[in-house]
Amino acid sequence: MTIFDIQKHLKALGHDPGPIDGVWGSRTRAALLSLLYVLRAIAVPGAASWNVARQRMAAEQAIMAASGFDTGPIDGLDGPRTQAARAQFQAQRNHSLDEVAPSAHSEIRQGRARHLVREIVIHSSATRPDWMGNNSLREQVEEIRVWHRARGWRDIGYHWIIGRDGSMLPGRPETEVGAHVQGHNSGTIGICLIGGFGSAATDRFSDHFTARQGITLEQQIQAISMRTPITRVSGHNEYAAKACPGFNVTRWLEGNQ
Ligand SMILES: [Zn+2]
Repeated sequence: MTIFDIQKHLKALGHDPGPIDGVWGSRTRAALLSLLYVLRAIAVPGAASWNVARQRMAAEQAIMAASGFDTGPIDGLDGPRTQAARAQFQAQRNHSLDEVAPSAHSEIRQGRARHLVREIVIHSSATRPDWMGNNSLREQVEEIRVWHRARGWRDIGYHWIIGRDGSMLPGRPETEVGAHVQGHNSGTIGICLIGGFGSAATDRFSDHFTARQGITLEQQIQAISMRTPITRVSGHNEYAAKACPGFNVTRWLEGNQ
């Protein structure tokens, strides 16, 4: 990726690099560190002291990870997993880098049928607040992946998972149809908040989730909306007789809880 490309991607992901000028300056570096912070569950300590070449490679990895591709650890090194992710990123997304910047033409499409993504569905893991509290978000995601595979699914059903501390990891790539809301999986992106045990559909967001989770969820809804024309953000409980995600998504979006 050129520095121009990296800057456009950072901007599209909601981390302002300043002017898109192709210069690796302090604002571009700050935008990278901001993205690494959001992804901190997979960021490597010491990133702030890497040289420019390694920062650029880390930016590429972070951009791909934030877009739902598995680059392996974000270490600024162009290893085999990063190379494989890059090939998928360029092929599966099936768009030129210029189209990633927010524009009327940005689209996320899923599966062979290329369903256009127009909706985000919010979920919870229905786990207690201290569930796997000594483990990293990556380990929590792996545990949920085990549950979902045990149901016969090929991978974790959600596209994004937001931990109690507000960090976030990709699950299934956004370009694949998820498994999170029966009858509405095609053309939707599923975001799962860790928590929500014992919740009711009418509870408040803050009854079960942290303020940091709320901030990350808002940012991620905005970021996805810049990459595909989202027309609706809903809760699982609007499609099934379930508590999940354990609050009223419409009221939360309106700022009323
Ligand atoms: Zn759900």
